[in-house]
Amino acid sequence: MNILFMGPPGAGKGTQAQVIVDAFGLPHISTGDAFRLAIKEGTPIGVKAKEYIDQGLLVPDDVTNGIVRERLSQPDCEKGFLLDGFPRTLLQAEALDTLLLESGRKLDHVINLNVDPEKLLVRITGRRICRTCGTTYHVIFNPPKQEGVCDKDGGELYQRPDDNEESVRTRLEEYASKTAPLIDYYANKGLLRQIDGDQEIGTVSEGILSVLRG
Ligand SMILES: [Zn+2]
Repeated sequence: MNILFMGPPGAGKGTQAQVIVDAFGLPHISTGDAFRLAIKEGTPIGVKAKEYIDQGLLVPDDVTNGIVRERLSQPDCEKGFLLDGFPRTLLQAEALDTLLLESGRKLDHVINLNVDPEKLLVRITGRRICRTCGTTYHVIFNPPKQEGVCDKDGGELYQRPDDNEESVRTRLEEYASKTAPLIDYYANKGLLRQIDGDQEIGTVSEGILSVLRG
């Protein structure tokens, strides 16, 4: 089963991706990991990617597509995969279709985790992290016993600098405008599966699994 997984920042995508890969025994392919692997192994496309990254340049689409092609051709992807963080543009989506077609494959499902942006804003801006052990709290949904103090070790809780309202709004708006064309693209192909991400974690997982088990 070949799955594409989409969802805005803060929607709990990482947690749900783990549930899917565990349930179906699929490799979780994120572009970040694919880049790191190609660069570490020094594959021709990895060497090319590193040149751009070392110069602080944006990696062009053809290089990114090449990295994804290389990763999806690994033996562990033969039974399927869960792709996360790619494609980000319509051109990349078309490139993905082409490279899957080359190996006689296609996407089976495009899961889109939907959460109201205003609720994501509350989720993300309320996050607090322990400086000592890294435990994550939420001022409303999972508060520590004492404000600003970690329950486990008394460490100081802090907010990540980019978790403030203004930068979260910017991130969410960017995400929405970039992915809207992709949502339409996959809806037109009949592949889009909309999942309500604004529910208990377990309920969201059940929703996704029942769609995939169809
Ligand atoms: Zn702590």
